[in-house]
Amino acid sequence: MLDYEFKVNEIIERIKEKNIKSVGLQFPEGLKTYATDVARQIEDETDAFTLISADPCYGACDAADVDMAGAVDLLVHFGHTALPLDYDVPVLFVEAQSNMDVMGAVGSSLSLLEGYERIGLVTTAQHLHLLDEITSFLEGNGKKVVMKEGSGTQKGQVLGCNFSAIKDLDIDAVLYVGSGNFHTLGIKLFTDKPVVIADPYMNDARDIDEFADRIMRIRFARIAKAADAKRFGIIVSSKKGQSRLDLAKVLKNMIDKEEREAFIIVMDDISPELLVPFRDLDAFVVTACPRIAIDDSKMYKKPLLTPPELEIVLGKREWEDYEMDEIKYD
Ligand code: SF4
Repeated sequence: MLDYEFKVNEIIERIKEKNIKSVGLQFPEGLKTYATDVARQIEDETDAFTLISADPCYGACDAADVDMAGAVDLLVHFGHTALPLDYDVPVLFVEAQSNMDVMGAVGSSLSLLEGYERIGLVTTAQHLHLLDEITSFLEGNGKKVVMKEGSGTQKGQVLGCNFSAIKDLDIDAVLYVGSGNFHTLGIKLFTDKPVVIADPYMNDARDIDEFADRIMRIRFARIAKAADAKRFGIIVSSKKGQSRLDLAKVLKNMIDKEEREAFIIVMDDISPELLVPFRDLDAFVVTACPRIAIDDSKMYKKPLLTPPELEIVLGKREWEDYEMDEIKYD
């Protein structure tokens, strides 16, 4: 059995039903190794030919519809659920459910959740199908599980930088089933409650307070380093789902008013190498994917800030009011 369920039979059915002749396939980084298996099955079972996107893909905000427009009749995007965006070709989103056992890690979380009754339960698209089983287990162990749908997300789902399903819940603590720095920190900041992560990849559970403190210390250091910056680059993504040009203009204005200078830089993928030529800039603000400044921070020599962090640098926001950046689609 594969580690993930790609629902290939449903895709094949759709291709046959709609008489589709060409299909684009797009996988996030961790799932790309399965691309040729899926393509093989589709080409064996239908008359359609497949095109596999090799470019990096981090979220549903980054669907390859623009690249594949004109070349395919359907794009299948794996690993994420849909965002309310206008796509250039029809896009079928397939969550790619994980077949990994999560119950070992969830079982380990019980001792860390001791003393907390109302538990906010949240996970990513890969494990959503297990929420009922996890709920039964927690409730069988005396907990009351609390979940809600988010804006554009399913019950108990975090999707990329959309944390709406976890906000404003009446809970004592959160159990996050998944992995990764960004989601873990986002859940902590948006709930301000104790957060336990049940990590199926490590098959263990851990309290994330120490981890969150470490990330926040790094963020504080980046903000402090940018305090004397005179010239900023404001990065705007050319990816449709990550483009926030209006926000970039507001930030540029804000910087210019402080007798500092700002330049808007447009990029598709953001990497340290591509910023090297901008030697005369002291710091960068990323209006593209909010994960970049948090997850990739160490790769960049100059401070890479999120928009709320820039507000702290400019004295428009207090450190105590630190907020995680989010791209909202509503
Ligand atoms: S912009 Fe949001 S949804 Fe897109 S890759 Fe980044 S975190 Fe994920």
